[in-house]
Amino acid sequence: YEVKDIIACLDETPIINHLQFSFWDWISDYYQSNLGDVYKAAIPAGLKLESQTKISYREDFTAEARLSKTEELIITVLKSSKDVNIQTLTQASGLKNVLPQIKKLLEKGAIEVEERILSSYKEKQIKYVRLHQSIKEDEIGEKLNSLNRAKKQQEILFSFLNLSKIGIAEVPEKVTATELLLNSDSTSSILKALVDKQILEIYFESTDRLDFSDAEINPLKELNQHQAQAIKEIREGFESKNTSLLHGVTSSGKTEIYIHLIKEQIDQGKQVLYLLPEIALTTQIITRLKHVFGNKVGVYHSKFNDAERVEVYNNIQQNNPDKSYQVILGVRSSIFLPFSNLGLIIIDEEHENTYKQFDPAPRYHARDAALFLAHLHKAKTLLGTATPAIETYANCKQGKYALVELMHRYQDIKMPEILLADLKEAKRKKRMKSIFTPELYEEINTALEKKEQVILFQNRRGYAPYLECKSCGWVPHCENCSVSLTYHQYNNQLTCHYCGHSTQPPQSCMQCESTNMVDKGFGTEKIEDELRIFFPQARIARMDLDTTRSKTAYEKLIYKFENHELDILVGTQMVSKGLDFDHVSLVGILNADSMLNFPDFRAHERSYQLMAQVSGRAGRKNKQGKVIIQTHEPKHPIIQSVIQNDYVGMYQTQMSEREEFIYPPFYRLINITLKHKNNGLLTQAANMLAQSLRKTFGIRVFGPQAPVINRIQNYYIVNILLKIEKKSSPAKAKWILNREANNLKAIERFKMVMVQFDVDPM
Ligand code: ADP
Ligand code: ZN
Ligand code: ZN
Repeated sequence: YEVKDIIACLDETPIINHLQFSFWDWISDYYQSNLGDVYKAAIPAGLKLESQTKISYREDFTAEARLSKTEELIITVLKSSKDVNIQTLTQASGLKNVLPQIKKLLEKGAIEVEERILSSYKEKQIKYVRLHQSIKEDEIGEKLNSLNRAKKQQEILFSFLNLSKIGIAEVPEKVTATELLLNSDSTSSILKALVDKQILEIYFESTDRLDFSDAEINPLKELNQHQAQAIKEIREGFESKNTSLLHGVTSSGKTEIYIHLIKEQIDQGKQVLYLLPEIALTTQIITRLKHVFGNKVGVYHSKFNDAERVEVYNNIQQNNPDKSYQVILGVRSSIFLPFSNLGLIIIDEEHENTYKQFDPAPRYHARDAALFLAHLHKAKTLLGTATPAIETYANCKQGKYALVELMHRYQDIKMPEILLADLKEAKRKKRMKSIFTPELYEEINTALEKKEQVILFQNRRGYAPYLECKSCGWVPHCENCSVSLTYHQYNNQLTCHYCGHSTQPPQSCMQCESTNMVDKGFGTEKIEDELRIFFPQARIARMDLDTTRSKTAYEKLIYKFENHELDILVGTQMVSKGLDFDHVSLVGILNADSMLNFPDFRAHERSYQLMAQVSGRAGRKNKQGKVIIQTHEPKHPIIQSVIQNDYVGMYQTQMSEREEFIYPPFYRLINITLKHKNNGLLTQAANMLAQSLRKTFGIRVFGPQAPVINRIQNYYIVNILLKIEKKSSPAKAKWILNREANNLKAIERFKMVMVQFDVDPM
């Protein structure tokens, strides 16, 4: 490489520690992604550097050269303000394109242009108001009188004085502008008048965005005998193994066990990382953790803005015993935080596939990467779930992880009663009430009458998955992707869930012009609508990607449901994940078949997990709950194992299928995705790559094949799947894979074909 000059030194101490470097190297190597992509994922955007152009007027410019009107305008702007870049100059001058003028002014020697490298992070500035420096305390009365004819200004000044803790007798040092305006019910223009009169003045102070206010610290809850036994086994497991799995049924008190283990680590001065699969869950757990650990707990997730992320990052990086978080509760990206001293990593709901990052690269699995992170820190990892991933359970059975089981619910509340509602029969007998079987309909009614809460689960958001012409079968598709558009009723739009493309639903069929367009299947939105028709008195809300886009939407929904301000919560898998509510007596699964029939080798495992998890929301705390599963196939073995709460049976069946069809955990998978706008060229490239891979891997190379959705945003897609035997070296396989991909890209016409790797795809 060519060595470049150092332009500036921005940080006095490094913002990245050596453990992070080792971690990134591992991610980049294992997941076959560029180090640059890992770096991008790992560092909050606010800490990254950006280059900025600074334009300034040259004091030594002698105005000998004549300037045009527009050039003069630009000079005026430059003379009146500091830190001008192209954008601000364009705005201030009102010109469309300032570049030609800048070029001329440069030639004439009137301006200077400087490239600077900046960090985009800005500290939070708080606007304060204080008494103007020139005013002595005994002059205040006089000033108040002088405002007799400007009542509004006088009110502000009164409020300012009143905000002092001791009252008007003492002048406060400062108050925030927000507080002052709120107190005096005034506006900033009136405040400005007082500033202009040099009575008050405004200044800024930088501050932390993080909340370090002292929370009340409560003692730990005492563990019951089952929990005590489990925690003992976890500790014993850690004596000989680095990883333990806590397989505990829903509501068995796993979280309470985590809290005890975290306490031990903090007492030893160690950091703890507590991973959750979903932002929604952080809301509930953070309250429980703050109860015990106060401001030693911090949260980190993607709904934070750049500046907030920088502050959490810096806080952990400093590892200051008095001010730094000792426990971080976060989603998958928190594995990249600058920990220096981890003692324990907890991965709750370890089976969840949201731990896997799909796009963009690095396509890492946070659970698996966390195991390596723990290894770097010589820390232990505790995986927890009611429905372990097949791979994880297999690792226990092979003795790699310690297995700890907790099969009693806290206070021995019974597991929910699970009933099946046969959709075929109900349809045949014409007893369906829209999308509800009579069984589910009755149970919802009963629950509402008893003032109990209901959760309804459907795997799909939106109103209907698609519209279909009843006469000719035409279905509206996305013009960029090969998928049908989903109908959203709330904005009456057909939306592509892949590229976001949105359009009005057609009045009539584009193929046969029939106006008989019907919606096929249903998503959460349609359930919500139907509920409003059948249960008009119920208070209903929906929790899915569409209703939780804003920063606080989750919290509000959960809060309302917890406080029983809602009767029915309809949702996608978001409602399945570890939420803990007290008054839910009924859970309804609207359509089990759509999960079971999903074309993926993990579909059965996932259906089991989803159904068991969402059922676990029923009947917590004080009584047994009820679950109704609507299905066309009540005898399906997965549905039967859900009813019998038979995880091990499900595991054994899955394992024999996985072995027979050469899937994980018996084989490793690497998915190779090729993309190009020209389908013909793409096919040629994919065939060539597959052929060259077959020379080494033989029949373990599958494809190329087009995925179910074979075009996204105008790019055609094909996949090649590689299955690698467990005993052979994955590093060598990846090396060969890279070599062959590079050979392909060396061919001129394939240069623009995108080749991506997904190691351990989900
Ligand atoms: P899980 O994480 O296994 O789903 P939780 O830890 O959320 O279970 O426990 C379920 C409920 O029981 C929670 O409301 C929790 O506060 C309560 N709980 C669990 N263990 C205890 C305990 N030892 N003492 C008091 N309450 C407990
Ligand atoms: Zn699309
Ligand atoms: Zn038609």
